[in-house]
Amino acid sequence: MGTYITRRCPHCGYTLESFERKYYAIGPPLVNCPSCHQGIKLDHITEWGLKNIFQKIGFILITIYTTILYGFMGGIFLYAGFSYIFEYTIDNFHALICGLFIWVLYSLYHVFSLGKEIAESNNRLSDSSYRKKLEEAGFRIDQ
Ligand SMILES: [Zn+2]
Repeated sequence: MGTYITRRCPHCGYTLESFERKYYAIGPPLVNCPSCHQGIKLDHITEWGLKNIFQKIGFILITIYTTILYGFMGGIFLYAGFSYIFEYTIDNFHALICGLFIWVLYSLYHVFSLGKEIAESNNRLSDSSYRKKLEEAGFRIDQ
Protein backbone atom coordinates (compact mmCIF):
# COMPACT_ATOMS: atom_id res chain seq x y z
CA MET A 1 0.00 0.00 0.00
CA GLY A 2 1.74 3.18 -1.08
CA THR A 3 1.74 5.99 -3.56
CA TYR A 4 4.77 7.37 -5.33
CA ILE A 5 5.77 10.94 -4.68
CA THR A 6 8.70 12.96 -5.89
CA ARG A 7 11.01 14.59 -3.39
CA ARG A 8 13.63 17.26 -3.82
CA CYS A 9 16.84 17.56 -1.85
CA PRO A 10 16.45 20.52 0.58
CA HIS A 11 20.15 21.34 0.19
CA CYS A 12 20.65 21.43 -3.59
CA GLY A 13 17.18 20.97 -5.08
CA TYR A 14 18.15 17.74 -6.83
CA THR A 15 15.07 15.73 -7.74
CA LEU A 16 15.41 12.48 -5.90
CA GLU A 17 14.02 9.26 -7.16
CA SER A 18 10.44 8.84 -6.18
CA PHE A 19 10.35 7.30 -2.77
CA GLU A 20 7.65 4.84 -2.08
CA ARG A 21 5.44 6.44 0.50
CA LYS A 22 4.43 3.76 2.92
CA TYR A 23 2.49 5.19 5.78
CA TYR A 24 4.11 4.45 9.14
CA ALA A 25 6.87 2.49 7.41
CA ILE A 26 9.84 1.13 9.37
CA GLY A 27 13.27 1.90 8.00
CA PRO A 28 16.23 4.30 8.09
CA PRO A 29 14.85 7.88 8.23
CA LEU A 30 18.01 9.35 6.76
CA VAL A 31 19.27 9.02 3.19
CA ASN A 32 22.15 10.68 1.39
CA CYS A 33 21.47 12.92 -1.60
CA PRO A 34 23.07 11.35 -4.71
CA SER A 35 24.04 14.82 -5.94
CA CYS A 36 25.43 16.78 -2.95
CA HIS A 37 25.82 13.78 -0.59
CA GLN A 38 24.21 15.61 2.30
CA GLY A 39 21.80 13.82 4.62
CA ILE A 40 18.09 14.14 3.93
CA LYS A 41 15.55 13.42 6.65
CA LEU A 42 12.50 11.47 5.55
CA ASP A 43 9.25 12.21 7.33
CA HIS A 44 7.40 9.04 6.40
CA ILE A 45 9.94 6.40 7.40
CA THR A 46 11.56 5.91 10.78
CA GLU A 47 13.10 3.22 12.93
CA TRP A 48 10.81 1.37 15.33
CA GLY A 49 12.84 2.60 18.31
CA LEU A 50 12.36 6.21 17.21
CA LYS A 51 8.58 5.98 17.10
CA ASN A 52 6.67 7.23 20.14
CA ILE A 53 3.94 5.18 21.79
CA PHE A 54 1.17 6.84 19.72
CA GLN A 55 3.01 6.15 16.48
CA LYS A 56 3.50 2.54 17.56
CA ILE A 57 -0.20 2.13 18.42
CA GLY A 58 -1.13 3.86 15.14
CA PHE A 59 1.20 1.55 13.25
CA ILE A 60 -0.39 -1.54 14.82
CA LEU A 61 -3.94 -0.26 14.15
CA ILE A 62 -3.09 0.44 10.50
CA THR A 63 -1.62 -3.07 10.25
CA ILE A 64 -4.80 -4.64 11.68
CA TYR A 65 -6.92 -2.52 9.33
CA THR A 66 -4.77 -3.59 6.37
CA THR A 67 -5.05 -7.29 7.20
CA ILE A 68 -8.85 -6.98 7.50
CA LEU A 69 -9.09 -5.04 4.24
CA TYR A 70 -6.80 -7.25 2.20
CA GLY A 71 -7.13 -10.56 4.05
CA PHE A 72 -10.80 -10.80 4.92
CA MET A 73 -12.13 -8.91 1.91
CA GLY A 74 -9.63 -10.71 -0.33
CA GLY A 75 -10.88 -14.08 0.95
CA ILE A 76 -14.49 -13.15 0.20
CA PHE A 77 -13.63 -11.90 -3.29
CA LEU A 78 -11.61 -15.05 -3.89
CA TYR A 79 -14.61 -17.15 -2.88
CA ALA A 80 -16.91 -15.10 -5.11
CA GLY A 81 -14.44 -15.42 -7.99
CA PHE A 82 -14.26 -19.20 -7.66
CA SER A 83 -18.04 -19.48 -7.41
CA TYR A 84 -18.27 -17.60 -10.71
CA ILE A 85 -15.65 -19.78 -12.43
CA PHE A 86 -16.97 -23.12 -11.14
CA GLU A 87 -20.59 -21.96 -11.29
CA TYR A 88 -21.70 -22.86 -7.80
CA THR A 89 -24.14 -20.83 -5.74
CA ILE A 90 -22.65 -18.38 -3.27
CA ASP A 91 -23.21 -19.50 0.30
CA ASN A 92 -22.82 -16.62 2.79
CA PHE A 93 -21.53 -18.89 5.52
CA HIS A 94 -18.87 -20.42 3.26
CA ALA A 95 -17.89 -16.95 2.02
CA LEU A 96 -17.46 -15.87 5.67
CA ILE A 97 -15.35 -18.95 6.50
CA CYS A 98 -13.20 -18.35 3.42
CA GLY A 99 -12.75 -14.68 4.38
CA LEU A 100 -11.77 -15.57 7.95
CA PHE A 101 -9.38 -18.28 6.77
CA ILE A 102 -7.52 -15.96 4.37
CA TRP A 103 -7.56 -13.21 7.05
CA VAL A 104 -5.89 -15.52 9.60
CA LEU A 105 -3.25 -16.63 7.05
CA TYR A 106 -2.60 -13.05 6.00
CA SER A 107 -2.42 -11.84 9.63
CA LEU A 108 0.09 -14.57 10.53
CA TYR A 109 2.20 -13.55 7.57
CA HIS A 110 1.95 -9.88 8.61
CA VAL A 111 2.87 -10.57 12.24
CA PHE A 112 5.86 -12.63 11.07
CA SER A 113 7.16 -10.00 8.63
CA LEU A 114 6.47 -7.14 11.07
CA GLY A 115 8.43 -8.94 13.77
CA LYS A 116 11.29 -9.34 11.31
CA GLU A 117 11.17 -5.65 10.31
CA ILE A 118 11.20 -4.53 13.97
CA ALA A 119 14.10 -6.88 14.77
CA GLU A 120 16.08 -5.54 11.79
CA SER A 121 15.27 -1.97 12.83
CA ASN A 122 16.40 -2.59 16.43
CA ASN A 123 19.51 -4.25 15.05
CA ARG A 124 20.35 -1.11 13.04
CA LEU A 125 19.74 1.07 16.12
CA SER A 126 22.07 -1.05 18.23
CA ASP A 127 24.94 0.17 16.02
CA SER A 128 26.48 3.10 17.92
CA SER A 129 27.85 4.86 14.81
CA TYR A 130 24.38 4.72 13.22
CA ARG A 131 22.82 6.13 16.42
CA LYS A 132 25.40 8.90 16.46
CA LYS A 133 24.59 9.76 12.83
CA LEU A 134 20.87 9.93 13.64
CA GLU A 135 21.43 12.04 16.77
CA GLU A 136 23.62 14.46 14.79
CA ALA A 137 20.77 14.80 12.28
CA GLY A 138 18.45 15.77 15.14
CA PHE A 139 16.65 12.51 15.82
CA ARG A 140 15.88 11.82 19.45
CA ILE A 141 16.72 8.34 20.65
CA ASP A 142 15.18 7.57 24.03
CA GLN A 143 16.40 4.07 24.66
ZN1 LIG B 1 21.41 17.44 -2.53
